[in-house]
Amino acid sequence: MQKREIKYIFVVGGVMSSVGKGIAAASIGKILQSRGYKVANMKADMYINIDAGTIRPAEHGEVFVGEDGVEADQDLGNYERFTNQISLHENYITTGQVYAEVIRRERNLEYEGEDVEVYPDIPKEIIRRIKACQEKNQSEITIIEYGGTVGEYQLLPFLEAARMMKSKKPSNVFVVLISYLPTPTLLGEQKSKPTQHAITDLYSVGLNPDFVLCRADQPATLDVKKTISNVCSLPVERIISAPDVYSIYDVPVNFEKENFGSVLLKVMGLPSYHKDLADWTALATKIKKIKKEIRIGIVGKYFNLKSCKDTYISVIESINHATWNLGYKPQILWIDTEKYEKDKSKLNELNELDGIILPGGFGKRGTEGMILVADYVRRNKIPYFGLCLGMQIMTIAYARNVLNLKDANSTEFDFDTSNPVIATMADQVEKIKNKNYGATMRLGAYPCKLETGSVAAEAYNKKEISERHRHRYEVNTKYIADLEKAGLIFSGKSPDGILMEIAELPKSVHPFYLGTQFHPEFKSRPLAPHPLFTSFIRACIRKKPAHLGEK
Ligand code: GLN
Repeated sequence: MQKREIKYIFVVGGVMSSVGKGIAAASIGKILQSRGYKVANMKADMYINIDAGTIRPAEHGEVFVGEDGVEADQDLGNYERFTNQISLHENYITTGQVYAEVIRRERNLEYEGEDVEVYPDIPKEIIRRIKACQEKNQSEITIIEYGGTVGEYQLLPFLEAARMMKSKKPSNVFVVLISYLPTPTLLGEQKSKPTQHAITDLYSVGLNPDFVLCRADQPATLDVKKTISNVCSLPVERIISAPDVYSIYDVPVNFEKENFGSVLLKVMGLPSYHKDLADWTALATKIKKIKKEIRIGIVGKYFNLKSCKDTYISVIESINHATWNLGYKPQILWIDTEKYEKDKSKLNELNELDGIILPGGFGKRGTEGMILVADYVRRNKIPYFGLCLGMQIMTIAYARNVLNLKDANSTEFDFDTSNPVIATMADQVEKIKNKNYGATMRLGAYPCKLETGSVAAEAYNKKEISERHRHRYEVNTKYIADLEKAGLIFSGKSPDGILMEIAELPKSVHPFYLGTQFHPEFKSRPLAPHPLFTSFIRACIRKKPAHLGEK
């Protein structure tokens, strides 16, 4: 049999950012996968940063951690949730990586005396990385999402890489422009001019879009589609409507309604196999019908409505997956813990919630309030799920209030504490001293053994698991025996028994009080919710006060 040509789809944004390019790229992956193709999604960010690990999540969104420890843009999480593809270093490129590699090679005389230039050496390195990702994933179709918007200076070498690939093999390389159609209130009609300008910007770098996806609050009208189709000389069937939807999981379903999958495969010259989107479509439909609600509080610091959704996207989606699967929908409340540091009586408001999640985080600010929350919900039997920092906080709260070690703390928040129940991991001491912060945490997947009969083992229904990590601190071995004697159970440990991976209270003591040193949120999928989230949400449903709906 003749080997099939490898195809590449570049997804680029026009008009403005934050229109859901990541979800669109993930959905393209999903519909092609559902038609029998092996796909790989990758993201190229324009930052000089080598990875997302050093970028502030409150402004730029969550740092998503892959199996091999890559600290990547949050879009890799969308790709995993949509296609179940496992993210690796190869799936994530930044300008910084590209330049660092070109300069490394130059210093090694690998350019054999030639001068090294932005053009063509930078685009060539970008192409090398795209091909390395395809190779690693053995994908038939590789979807490359470019961060930023056409017209941006820093995107030029990346667009040039796409142009070079497309001019070499036009039948294997395709460009999808994700644009936006504004509807000015005064006019009340969709306008396509900004999209036309984005198309012109693409022309100016030698690229033609093969498809235009029209993001808008409403479906694109036929008139607008025809105008865009004329401007870029594409048949109307290649102008795809991408209106706002009830949930992100509707996007692939909507693409199929527009016949995008078939037309895309036709244009790529690939056969279209039977599409298998039934489970996915059923989920997207089910979500809309759910009426019963539970209230989950996410506690942390610097919450502002704009950033929360992106900062905690994997946590939010994991809550969604587990809650929907149990026939409820979550109402998420953002709770800034600093107010409890000023006024403890406010902690009473936590009684209104069905459960609390304390997600990952760094730095001292807000932690005293978090410790108060962890103690309050333990005493008042409100379900609590701690993720990474959340496990460290519950351990500190337990040491302070049950072991009576009043100044127990993490050395991250109080370096001189006389009771460092959470302390630097042994291999981190030198790194912190030398300010060697980039990609040096304990990162990626590690195995963990579960204690038979524990809440965790019951949830997973397994003896050994593997989960992804991102931390520098851990439970200090010196305090483990005392904490255990006082009733805190370390139900998950590294196989050598040295690192505490899960802490919990037994069911007889608390409906759900559990924290993980790892980040389970990176492995939840819409059709396969994470077992610990499911177990936590079950406890929240049981706690649900009657006034919020039927039990
Ligand atoms: N700051 C803590 C640590 O580095 C927790 C990290 C996290 O929550 N991801 O160990």
